[in-house]
Amino acid sequence: ADIAMYKAKEKGRGTYQVFDGHMREQEVAMAALEVDLYQALELGQFKAAYQPIVCLESQRLVSFELLMRWQHPTLGMVPPDKFIPLAEETGQIFDMGLWVFEQACQQLQQWRELVDEHRLPTIAVNLSAVQLNQPNLIDKLDVILARTGTKGRHLKLEITETALMENTQAVNEILGSLRERHIELAIDDFGTGYSSLSYLDQLPVQVLKIDRSFVNSLIDRGEEHEGTQEIVKATISLAHSLKVKVVAEGIETEDQWRTLHGYHCDFGQGYLFAKPMWPDQATEYLLDNLDRHQPQVQQLRP
Ligand code: C2E
Ligand code: MG
Ligand code: MG
Ligand code: MG
Repeated sequence: ADIAMYKAKEKGRGTYQVFDGHMREQEVAMAALEVDLYQALELGQFKAAYQPIVCLESQRLVSFELLMRWQHPTLGMVPPDKFIPLAEETGQIFDMGLWVFEQACQQLQQWRELVDEHRLPTIAVNLSAVQLNQPNLIDKLDVILARTGTKGRHLKLEITETALMENTQAVNEILGSLRERHIELAIDDFGTGYSSLSYLDQLPVQVLKIDRSFVNSLIDRGEEHEGTQEIVKATISLAHSLKVKVVAEGIETEDQWRTLHGYHCDFGQGYLFAKPMWPDQATEYLLDNLDRHQPQVQQLRP
């Protein structure tokens, strides 16, 4: 770990720091992880997982969210909540973000060989706030779109509200460029930040994703939670009045589904429908879904 530590500091911030033995265990572990992260892309340790987003009414597949996974050689699968913040701190998120975008485009091209273009689900890619500061971001995305022959309208970008709050000229330009390319914009984890619904009116946002924590507390051990229910209902109705579609994240129970469907929430994502899947399983899921004339989980109809 000492050597790892040294390398991390050297590579990461260009500063030399002697390992003095007082470093807390957790910091050492993080530093080691940071070193490993530098090589992860080259070594092909990142994987893309895909989680379906379905129409709450028809249960049809509309989209897949791409969720990044890191297959670490000794630690096993490292969750994104552990390595994304680290990558944001070191700037590695730039290269990782482009890798993720390219994965999505390649996956779309693969699916296009199997599925008519008008039945192709979109792929939603998470964009970290830090990536909005990546020099020439749009040019870089354009190169990938051109190389893979992907149309912008098959892609969505999910950005958290805090990222969009920095309503700077640069951010506005990026959002304008995305719109020109027909890449839709979704506000991710809505409700966890400052949650001003006024962005919905000011920004070119087409989709709002209600954070899992709200879905979670709609019904608590069979008890209806009125406060949360009112907030969610009002959010959906305001979004709709601004022609913004709503996705509920983290739907795990039939009760949650029934409740959200009752509020006219458009789409849902969660373990009730499907967990994130590896590309092969996602392809299977996609093909199954296209052939299906019956709702997917019939006994679950609200
Ligand atoms: P997110 O964008 O809000 O993604 C949804 C998270 O909720 C995913 O966690 C997903 O696996 C999880 N989830 C979905 N349905 C359920 C459910 O029913 N129950 C529970 N308990 N969880 C559910 P995951 O994959 O661990 O990703 C966590 C976060 O890491 C993401 O939150 C996103 O902010 C970030 N992330 C993942 N992939 C990327 C990426 O490629 N780029 C960037 N910048 N961030 C990413
Ligand atoms: Mg997301
Ligand atoms: Mg989310
Ligand atoms: Mg989240």
